[in-house]
Amino acid sequence: MGKWRSGRLPGGQAGDYLRQRFIDFYYHPYCAVCDRPVQPPLPSPLVCRDCLSVLPYRMERERLSWDHPWPLFATFYYRDPLRKMMVSMKFSERIDRAEAIAPFMYATMVRNRIEVDAVIPVPLHERRLLERGYNQAALLADVIAREAGVSVVDVMLYRDVDTDRQSESRSVQERHRHLADAFKLRKRSPLIGELRGRKVLLVDDVLTTGATLSAAAKPLDKAGIDVVCLVASSDKEKYRGFCEALDVWSSLS
Ligand SMILES: [Zn+2]
Repeated sequence: MGKWRSGRLPGGQAGDYLRQRFIDFYYHPYCAVCDRPVQPPLPSPLVCRDCLSVLPYRMERERLSWDHPWPLFATFYYRDPLRKMMVSMKFSERIDRAEAIAPFMYATMVRNRIEVDAVIPVPLHERRLLERGYNQAALLADVIAREAGVSVVDVMLYRDVDTDRQSESRSVQERHRHLADAFKLRKRSPLIGELRGRKVLLVDDVLTTGATLSAAAKPLDKAGIDVVCLVASSDKEKYRGFCEALDVWSSLS
């Protein structure tokens, strides 16, 4: 009991050892961008000074416009060195890079006065999650929620259709139609009622066509949950929705 009261992990020396390993793992003095050793103190604990100055911040262009009712923000442009970081986070298990990137996303929230009651990562399809072992959007969401002092809700929204696999063989039009109902809410989740009328942050890593993010936001919006979208990176300045784009195409033909 004494050990609990003193705030130490149980387990005596083995516990101390594991705790030190934990600290070494999470606080290793290497930059998450360039992998060079870093000398603390730093303005950001995981990014060295050189890399801090070359990250592709969107600055005053963090808010993007698109033809959906929910606001959309992006912290970075999808350019190197950030692009490399995102790719390695997704495919090479560099989960430490989420710890480096997400605090900048939280800074976007603070700058734009975004206050939310919960953070929701854009879910991966179950099969994809099993293959990869983790959801890169969830890694970012965990850190953002911790910084913001709110909860992550990752059990309510799920991806019903694994679209990416088939997407290469489909036309743009087919892909959008297929994606439209790709995400659903677990109908029995009590969180749906709890979050109705409240604001949530929907988080993803990269915004390309915007179709995935808007498809994920749709069921939340339908349930009366106020959605704000935040992605780590996007190269776009403005998004035109699919229907609007279709109108333009058909008027041209
Ligand atoms: Zn660096």
